[in-house]
Amino acid sequence: MNAGTLYVVATPIGNLGDMTPRAVEVLQRVARIAAEDTRHSAGLLRHFGIHTPLFALHEHNEREVSAEVVRRLLAGEDIALISDAGTPLISDPGFPLTRLAHEAGIRVVPVPGASALIAALSAAGLPTDRFAFEGFLPPKSAARRHVLEGLAGERRTLAFYEAPHRLLETLEDMAAVFGPERLAVLARELTKTFETLRRAPLGELLEFVRADSDQQRGEAVLLVHGAPPPAADVLADEPRRIAELLAAELPVKQAAALAAKITGAKKNQIYDYLVNERQ
Ligand code: SAM
Repeated sequence: MNAGTLYVVATPIGNLGDMTPRAVEVLQRVARIAAEDTRHSAGLLRHFGIHTPLFALHEHNEREVSAEVVRRLLAGEDIALISDAGTPLISDPGFPLTRLAHEAGIRVVPVPGASALIAALSAAGLPTDRFAFEGFLPPKSAARRHVLEGLAGERRTLAFYEAPHRLLETLEDMAAVFGPERLAVLARELTKTFETLRRAPLGELLEFVRADSDQQRGEAVLLVHGAPPPAADVLADEPRRIAELLAAELPVKQAAALAAKITGAKKNQIYDYLVNERQ
């Protein structure tokens, strides 16, 4: 008997039009579906004509249930994992199951689709070549500020999930720790009727949310621009000007090498500036 396959299937984050045809096909074909909340997912599955049996796999039972799922996979059943919305395991259950499945030699197949994190990043107008996903911050302000303080010097774009009732206090803490001038993006109710995508310095974003109680409802992703480089790493005006002139005519690597020769500044620093910081 061949072992079955575990499919990790993304579902929409609001707009049902984001369900992929492959997700529907896989969910129809598998023997059963593990869902975070079976009542919630039953509605989605009914909408797409999927009548596959559901069982619950959530943060409170996933350790016990995962072992049983792996037994069924080893016995030859194909099984799909979904969460309430978006991509499983992204601040959602499923890690123990995928780990156990791999350890048992089961094939694990992703069926990609919506995720609030990637949707927010894709439209935010912030650097996305590198980013740090921090998931949910601690609910209490002292612990939250402590985590934020540890991230204050992080150069990569920071991404957070936040519950609606904590959005305002989290923005207050972010403005206090990162400074009101740091650029940020609120991506709220993505793909839904009252979608907001607001890009502004943290101080302004805070006032925007404070002034409009509608913005304090619904689901939100917060993105924060990475920290500026430390002063010692900032390229002086003259090498910067020359590097920019050369980069307009030459490949970046060559422009950096030439600007370094002309100005005496470090080639790596100029290259880094041309690639990562030039507007
Ligand atoms: N697995 C999901 C994903 O791939 O996006 C995330 C699950 S996590 C439990 C729920 C959080 O995701 C929400 O609190 C919010 O931060 C974010 N989220 C989910 N749907 C969203 C939406 N439509 N717009 C903005 N944020 C959303």
